[in-house]
Amino acid sequence: MLQYKIIPVTPFQQNCTLVWCDETQDAALIDPGGDLHLLQAAIEQANVKVTKILLTHGHLDHVGGTAELVRKHGLPIEGPQREDAFWIDQLPMQCQMMGFPPVQNFQPDRWLEQGDRVTVGREQLEVFFCPGHTPGHVVFYHAGQQLAWVGDVLFAGSIGRTDFPRGDYDTLVTSIRKNLWPLGDAVQFIPGHGPMSTFGTERKTNPFVADHRFG
Ligand SMILES: [Zn+2]
Repeated sequence: MLQYKIIPVTPFQQNCTLVWCDETQDAALIDPGGDLHLLQAAIEQANVKVTKILLTHGHLDHVGGTAELVRKHGLPIEGPQREDAFWIDQLPMQCQMMGFPPVQNFQPDRWLEQGDRVTVGREQLEVFFCPGHTPGHVVFYHAGQQLAWVGDVLFAGSIGRTDFPRGDYDTLVTSIRKNLWPLGDAVQFIPGHGPMSTFGTERKTNPFVADHRFG
């Protein structure tokens, strides 16, 4: 089984998730945006060994803790898709814009593409390429437990902003409807901010992507 604990980090309360395989106790941090002391406490409480960092996209509140984690623990970085390289390269500027203390940029060890798989111990997550909020955004999906990490693609009752450089509203809506909905209404998702929901609930009630909006 894949276990997980959501840890909201940064002033933006971004949902970093510690995920681990309960057979091997190998773990990954998905979107470690900052507040490393909170992540460290969760790691100790779960008694797991973090072996990698997984990134959905290059925004500061999702990746801001990455360089320091790599420096301290030498962890490999997987994701996002390479079109987000410009966001990662501009991390120092993102810090200035958002009023964050400065962080270093970094180089992912593996860019991800649609159809790739990433492992956490003996568990596997499927990768879906879902641009629109950023051009290189990816979503992670655990088929066995019907659980998805969607970053800032989709929220309970909303969707990601598309007013950043290279954001695109139509592309985002298409990513959600073509990539996420086919996974099934029962799929639960952990968004980058706010509470969990299910794809089925959003298809009924989300004011941006509910089915009734599209005839
Ligand atoms: Zn974002």
